[in-house]
Amino acid sequence: MNVESFNLDHTKVAAPFIRVADVKDLGGVTLTKYDIRFCQPNVDHLEMPTMHSIEHSFAEYSRNHADDVVDFSPMGCQTGFYLMRSNEPDLEDTMELVETSFHDILAADSVPAANEVQCGWGASHSLDGAKEAVSAMLDKRDQWDEIYA
Ligand code: ZN
Repeated sequence: MNVESFNLDHTKVAAPFIRVADVKDLGGVTLTKYDIRFCQPNVDHLEMPTMHSIEHSFAEYSRNHADDVVDFSPMGCQTGFYLMRSNEPDLEDTMELVETSFHDILAADSVPAANEVQCGWGASHSLDGAKEAVSAMLDKRDQWDEIYA
């Protein structure tokens, strides 16, 4: 199929993990898409307010540590996120960026831009949920590079 992740057998993976999902040469610039998977597909998922707060927080904090972050977006299945960086694939560096940004979330006392002026649904946030999810992810930091069971 056209979409890389549609060719991934979601029954064979073991979350959490981080993997390179796609690499595009845009003519002098390389765009790399990472699959940052929090939950075991078809077994577990994150609630939307939790996802929303991780999205806002990671989008803001990761840019304090890297200038090649293009996008960080929730998956519709609510099991993880896609991170896009304008750079060659670098899984080690990306895992470090994710780890550092997650620690920023754990240290935060509010969600960036969680209000009606800066967001489309400012009330739909859960910082506690976000902290719980990134904390569970960090507990398995040594397994992030293992995609399959
Ligand atoms: Zn929002």
